[in-house]
Amino acid sequence: MKPSDSKQAEHSPPPHRKLCRDCGVDTIDRGAWNYYMVHNDLWDVAGVNRDMLCLGCFAHRLGRPLEASDFTLAPINNTNPLISALRRAREADRD
Ligand SMILES: [Zn+2]
Repeated sequence: MKPSDSKQAEHSPPPHRKLCRDCGVDTIDRGAWNYYMVHNDLWDVAGVNRDMLCLGCFAHRLGRPLEASDFTLAPINNTNPLISALRRAREADRD
């Protein structure tokens, strides 16, 4: 019997960074919806530092619905269906 074996299990490595910090959903497995990049000041408001949040949990932390202007022009946002919908809605509002 080696006591050090059980000690190691108690100190398993932190969860993978692709998991939502709040709900634990795998943001990669859930498809493009949870790939996104927002402006740094918003990320600071949400207080997640270098962790990941799914979009739902991010909006919850912000305390308001997400807006098209929350997202940067990074190419990663162009493949996200939710961001595309927000951008289309904003365009429609301008008419
Ligand atoms: Zn989440």
